[in-house]
Amino acid sequence: MSYEMPTIILFGEGCLATLPDLLAPYRKIAFFHGRASYVPNAQRMDALLQGKDILHIADIAPEPEVRHLQECTEQLQSFAPECVLALGGGSVLDIAKGAAFCAMQSTSVEGLLSASGGHFADSLPVIAIPTTAGTGSEVTPFAVFWNHGEKKKYSFGYRELFPAHALVDPELTYSMPPIVTACTGMDAFTQACESYWNNNHNPTSDAYALEALSLMLSALPKAVEDGADASARHDVMLGSLRAGQAFSNTRTAACHSISYPMTLYFGVTHGQAVGVTLPEVLLLDAQAMPNRIPDFCEALGASSMGEAAEKIRDMMRASGLCTRLSELGIDRAGIDIIVEHGFTPERMSNNPYAFTAESLRTMLLHLL
Ligand SMILES: [Zn+2]
Repeated sequence: MSYEMPTIILFGEGCLATLPDLLAPYRKIAFFHGRASYVPNAQRMDALLQGKDILHIADIAPEPEVRHLQECTEQLQSFAPECVLALGGGSVLDIAKGAAFCAMQSTSVEGLLSASGGHFADSLPVIAIPTTAGTGSEVTPFAVFWNHGEKKKYSFGYRELFPAHALVDPELTYSMPPIVTACTGMDAFTQACESYWNNNHNPTSDAYALEALSLMLSALPKAVEDGADASARHDVMLGSLRAGQAFSNTRTAACHSISYPMTLYFGVTHGQAVGVTLPEVLLLDAQAMPNRIPDFCEALGASSMGEAAEKIRDMMRASGLCTRLSELGIDRAGIDIIVEHGFTPERMSNNPYAFTAESLRTMLLHLL
């Protein structure tokens, strides 16, 4: 087994204050942020960045498109920063990582997105500061881009995309609205489950995944209900970090694969889309790897897989998330679309239970 984590991780309330130390070697900095991530922190960030030559790359769209990645790459190539700083949710972190990588390669962005490997130049160093507790992008070598017009999704999965530093400060999530807390938290929870129930799992990823699950099961509904609950925010942020550390080395599996057409064709938010199939997928995965049931159930305080699945549904409902496809506007015809487009080979092949079109359809009909 092998486990790789080149990102230096700082975690804790108030750790944003250490940013000037991390930036000390650099003068020219490209600063990626979204409106929601920057506005509440603007004064503080300006103070922390005083004296630096800053290029703001702002107002990143959610689920960034390939053309946005191209634009940001060109901006980095003409500004030539020494370092890339990213403050925001998964979309901001992903595009900052993607552009920091693409800007240093001799191949075009399009060529890089269709490449399946190869030798690459080092990325610009990235300092990733998440303001949501969900994607884990601050500690993964992955970045996702979309072409909504062509209903396509692209992803990078190269070790050069690991950020140099992850600054994970739970205080930055205190202002996150309840629905964003629920959806991003559900993404993290699902990523932890998919890392545990994964053909690529190893003892290190297992330990991180199980810690994430037990932290988040009770803390997520509390953080949704009361955003000022510092203890719940702490546990959800730490759970999200642990989930990222887990799936950074295993990748995700069936729930993510099945979710992409839900997002592309039905506009379902990522965390909701991956979560809606999670309890059913887990029950099938447990049949494929029965020796892994006891540790999983213990992490969730359940005595059986059935009880574990019910606890997850309870957590979702308590967080305001949907547990049935019909609640998301998906009907029988929608299931046909999901079955047709839900098999992303590099995700499905990680799943312990080997889905066929027929078994996927049966499971989705059960979830209507
Ligand atoms: Zn995800």
